Amino acid sequence: DTLTDSFKNAIGKIRFHDDEKALKKALAELKKALLKSDVHHKVVKELIVTVEKETKAAGIGKESFMKALQDELVRILTAKGNQGFVFASRPPTVVLMTGLQGSGKTTTTGKLAYMLKEQKKKKVLIAAADLQRLAAVEQLRQIAEQIGVDLVADENATPDEVVKRALKKAEDELYDVVLIDTAGRLAIDEELMEELARIRDLAQPDEIFYVADAMTGMDAVRTAQTFKDKIGITGVILSKFDADSKGGVALGIAHQVGVPLRFIGSGEKMPDLEPFIPERITSRLMGAGDIEGLAEKTAAVIDEKTAKRVTQKIKKGKFNFNDFLEQMEQMKKLGSMKSLIGMIPGMGNMAKQLGDLDLENSKEVKHIKAMISSMTPKERENPDLLNNSRKRRIAQGAGLSQMEVNRVIKQFKNAAKMAKKLSGKGGMKQMQDLMK
Ligand code: GDP
Ligand code: MG
Repeated sequence: DTLTDSFKNAIGKIRFHDDEKALKKALAELKKALLKSDVHHKVVKELIVTVEKETKAAGIGKESFMKALQDELVRILTAKGNQGFVFASRPPTVVLMTGLQGSGKTTTTGKLAYMLKEQKKKKVLIAAADLQRLAAVEQLRQIAEQIGVDLVADENATPDEVVKRALKKAEDELYDVVLIDTAGRLAIDEELMEELARIRDLAQPDEIFYVADAMTGMDAVRTAQTFKDKIGITGVILSKFDADSKGGVALGIAHQVGVPLRFIGSGEKMPDLEPFIPERITSRLMGAGDIEGLAEKTAAVIDEKTAKRVTQKIKKGKFNFNDFLEQMEQMKKLGSMKSLIGMIPGMGNMAKQLGDLDLENSKEVKHIKAMISSMTPKERENPDLLNNSRKRRIAQGAGLSQMEVNRVIKQFKNAAKMAKKLSGKGGMKQMQDLMK
């Protein structure tokens, strides 16, 4: 028996999945992970259906599965509508900041002002229309001072008066942007909604941002829906994303509420505001739960396919050095898959044997790789070309003795020859012996 024999023997035993079953299993894992990440079950259901369909269309495998998932998540997150900050055609651009108490409105107002001033070089005015608590005005005053942005505030006025004054000042003094910070409540209440609707009608804002606390998960999604229905929000800013270990809330807002996400708050400081980038959230979601592990689990599907293809080539006598090299790589994967293999009924023994095998550091594997990389593409395709002068050149290039080169070529030829006669038992043992 040879290396190839043993490999085929080993691979031949892996009959634990057909493609469909592997995919179903992967989808089940995905579903679990998404639900764990706070994604709404309806979103999960739709997502699973699409990923299944797309993976099948592209050909079941690890890569197509991961790509279908990534694409679908990005598609959901890139809900119709604007991204980032959009300026009105005629200044000033008026932005109404809304959200529940403690969601991060005041902080985010400061962050936006800071970004517009520093990055876009805009003249920004902030209106302190949260007059529920006196401390709120003081908080905003400190922020405005810190970032060097002008503020309209008056503890003795009504929110409406403050807004009117700010708008007038912006017109008169040619500000580019007016940001209106408003009061929140601990939960949705009618009084709050009425106050916001009144300010909205008064200010005629170009944008109404809803600041959602990412840490509140599904609650943030529900509240966003209410703000959309009652106030007509045009964008969502996810605050405290640095503290939120999940990303499901972003999916919920984009998919269920259907309002575009604009920015992400990534810390308490003024520069901690980032444009919303779907790919970033996606990798966060994909890194959650057990999804990482899926890569390994679905890899089994691909390995089996490759093995089948190589076997076909062997049978047709077209097996070449490139195939040989590919098999070596597959063997390495097999080694790294040992924990998975161990889970398959009846395969425990094989996993144990694989456990002792160090393919990555095998001298034999290194020789073979060195040798093949010293061959010309034609030589790799057609092993019969290897005459003595070519062998000498290859030996020199690979830093091997000619004897070593001959040995590998002999192995390779045996592999190709004996492939057809492969039979059951003892394969793994011989593979191990060979690798020593
Ligand atoms: P408001 O009641 O909606 O105005 O909320 P605030 O702006 O006062 O923020 C409430 C708390 O959340 C404050 O302690 C902020 O420092 C904190 N906060 C706001 N945004 C972020 C963020 O993106 N990351 C972190 N870690 N904390 C934030
Ligand atoms: Mg506030």
